[in-house]
Amino acid sequence: MTVAAEKYKEQVYKMGLRMATSGLVTGTWGNLSARVPREDLVVITPSGLPYATLQVRDMVVLDMNGRVVEGERRPSTEFHLHLAIYRARPDVYAVMHTHSVFASALAVARKPIPPILEDLAQTVGDGVPVASYARAGTEELARAAVEALGNRGAVLLANHGVVGVGRNLEEAFMVCQIVEKSAKVYVWADLVGKPAILPPDEVQALRDSYLNSYSQAAVRNYAVNDR
Ligand SMILES: [Zn+2]
Repeated sequence: MTVAAEKYKEQVYKMGLRMATSGLVTGTWGNLSARVPREDLVVITPSGLPYATLQVRDMVVLDMNGRVVEGERRPSTEFHLHLAIYRARPDVYAVMHTHSVFASALAVARKPIPPILEDLAQTVGDGVPVASYARAGTEELARAAVEALGNRGAVLLANHGVVGVGRNLEEAFMVCQIVEKSAKVYVWADLVGKPAILPPDEVQALRDSYLNSYSQAAVRNYAVNDR
């Protein structure tokens, strides 16, 4: 295994522990992956193992067709979803899938999260759409998620949960946290009044400035430097 893939196994493992204790997932649900730059490889968490007992060697290395290149474990059952996003989005180097409560509530109600907050507009774009329903772990779900995601930073999976993407693991994790916070704010705002949605030109300006400048500081110390 290459030195780069070994490094990404360690990073995926460490981020898995952070995701597991973040309140965004329950039990062994939730999964994450990172694309190894220049190698057409993806490091993904294994299927069905408690995060508390995971070790770095349990991470699974896949090629872009889903074949296991290295690892004793089975890859996350959502590997189709992760690979489909990497194939469709050359800008994405990390994918995280969570079942956070408020975002899942909106996914059950099949209600997209509109662009209501500055951080959501910056990191996700013009809101979080809801992908059409497909059963967990299927290629159909992967196709539905990619189609709804478009060039945004996140998508809700109908009656299921959240997918957040980023230029590195840190950014994908941040997106999943911002989506959950935005879902909470949206539900509360809808209870006390009518949520005001940011206008499209303001959303675009926020998104552009984030992608072009603001985020550079946030990602400087992370894997983006490898590319
Ligand atoms: Zn799931």
